[in-house]
Amino acid sequence: MFASLETAPTRLKRQLPELVSVPGEDRYATAINIWAKTSGVMPRAVFHCRTAEDLQTAIRAAREHDLPLSIRGGGHDWAGRALCDGIVADMTGMRHVVLDADQRTATIGGGARAADVTAITDPLGRAVVTGSCSCVGMAGLTLGGGYGPLNGRFGLALDNMVAAQVVLADGRIVSADNESNADLFWALRGGGGNFGAVVAMRHHAHDLPAVYSGVFVYPFSEARTVLEACNSLTATAPDELSVQIVAIADPSGTLVAMVIPIWSGLPEQAERALEPFQRLGTLLAGKVERTSYGALLSVFDPFVVNGLRVVVETCSVPSLDLDTIDMIIHGMETAVSPGCAIITHEFRGAASRVSDSETAFGLRRDHVMLEMLATCPAHADGMDEVLHRSWARRTRQTFTMALPGGYPNFLGPNDLERARQSYGQNAARLIEIKRRYDPDNVFASAIPLPWTP
Ligand SMILES: Cc1cc2nc3c(=O)[nH]c(=O)nc-3n(C[C@H](O)[C@H](O)[C@H](O)COP(=O)(O)OP(=O)(O)OC[C@H]3O[C@@H](n4cnc5c(N)ncnc54)[C@H](O)[C@@H]3O)c2cc1C
Repeated sequence: MFASLETAPTRLKRQLPELVSVPGEDRYATAINIWAKTSGVMPRAVFHCRTAEDLQTAIRAAREHDLPLSIRGGGHDWAGRALCDGIVADMTGMRHVVLDADQRTATIGGGARAADVTAITDPLGRAVVTGSCSCVGMAGLTLGGGYGPLNGRFGLALDNMVAAQVVLADGRIVSADNESNADLFWALRGGGGNFGAVVAMRHHAHDLPAVYSGVFVYPFSEARTVLEACNSLTATAPDELSVQIVAIADPSGTLVAMVIPIWSGLPEQAERALEPFQRLGTLLAGKVERTSYGALLSVFDPFVVNGLRVVVETCSVPSLDLDTIDMIIHGMETAVSPGCAIITHEFRGAASRVSDSETAFGLRRDHVMLEMLATCPAHADGMDEVLHRSWARRTRQTFTMALPGGYPNFLGPNDLERARQSYGQNAARLIEIKRRYDPDNVFASAIPLPWTP
C-alpha cells in the first residue's frame, strides 16, 4: 500500500485525505501546536485519529516507511514528546469521556484532557484522579504516574486506571487489565507510552461533590517559617488534605511563597483543616473557597500558555525538612529571571500504601517531588535559554538529599540512568515487557526506558 519513502507524505495524503494532513494545512498546524516550544521538529504528516483502526493505520504507515512515530495526546509533555520528525498520531479527536451507569468508573478517550473529564464528572459530583492542571492529557499523565491533589486520598492517577484498550506496535488491538494481558497492564501503569497507543482507559470515579481550597500568598522573606509550619501541619494531616507550595515571582516581579491546601474530605471538617494555613505568617492574599473539582484545576489555566520555551528539572526529596526548605529559598534567591519557580507535589497517603511491585511506577514511599520551572522571556535568545537551563539544573543538583531517579514523566530523553533508578526493582520486568510488546521500539518517542532495542 505504501511504496516509496521519498514521496511518503504526499502519497499518504492522496490515499487517505480525511485522515492525513501535511505542512501547510490548518489542521496540521493545530495538531502540532503543543505546550512545549520544540526546536525545529517538523512532522512529515499528522494522522488525525478518531478510532482504534485509524491508529492502526498510522502505526502501519510509520513502520512501512521506516519513519519515527509519536502519539499526540493532550500535548503537554514538557519535552515536546508528542511530536517527531515522522508521523504523528494525533488523538485530539478521541476526547470522549463517558461515566458508566453506576457512576463508579469513567471511560476516557486516549486524547482527553483533565478538563474533558471534569466537564462530565463535575455536574454529577464525581471525580477522577487527575494532575493539578485542567489542560494536561489524561493518558500521558496516567501512563507515567499522575501526581495531583487527590493522591493522598485515592492514589496516583495510574492507581485508578482499571483497564485500557491499546493498539500495539504490531497493529493488534488488545484490552489490558488485571485479568487480560496483565503484564501489559502492569507496564502501562508507570512505563509511559512505551507499549502502545492507548485508545481509551477506564478509571475509578469517586464521590466528590466539592473541594475546599485557597491560594494563600506570603512574603518570600517569611518563606522559611511559612514552609516549616506548613511541613509540620502536613506531617500529621489526613489523606484528604493535600498541600502544594509554589515559590514564584508575582506579577510585579516580587518573590512570594504561595501555599495551596486542598481539602477533599467531609465539608464540615474543611474549615478546621484549612484554617491553620492562613496563619503561617503575614498573609498577603487568599481565602478559603468551595469549588467543584474541575474549577479547582482551572485556577492555573491562565498561566499555562502554549509555545513558551520552558525548562523543567525535577527531583524527589524525602520530605520538606529544613535543609530542603533552605535550598528552595536559595534556589529562588539565585533565580535568573522572574520566570523561575519551584513547585512542590506531595506524595503520601493512599499513593504510598501501594506496594512497589503492584505497578511499574517505582517510588512508593512518602516524598515531595520538586519541580524547578524556568520560563524564558517571550523573545529569549540562545543565551537566555542557557541561563535558564543552567539555573534549573544547578538548583536541582543542590538537593543532595534527593532520592535516586526522578518522576519519569519529567525525565529527559537521555536520562536513562535516572530512569533506571526511578523504576528501581521494577526496571528489569519493565524492559522484559517492552522487548515483548515493542521489540523494534516503534513507540520510541515516549518517556525514557533504560534499555536499547
Ligand atoms: C503545564 C503542565 C502541568 C503539568 N502538571 C502535572 C501534574 O500536576 N501532575 C503530573 O503528574 N504531571 C504533570 N505534568 C506532566 C504531564 O503529566 C506529562 O507531561 C504528560 O505526559 C502529559 O500528557 P499529554 O497527553 O498532555 O502529553 P503529550 O505531549 O500529548 O504526549 C506526551 C507523551 O505521552 C504519551 N501519550 C499521550 N497520550 C497517549 C496515548 N493515548 N497513548 C499512549 N501514549 C500516550 C506518548 O508517549 C506521548 O509522546 C504537567 C505538564 C505540564 C506541561
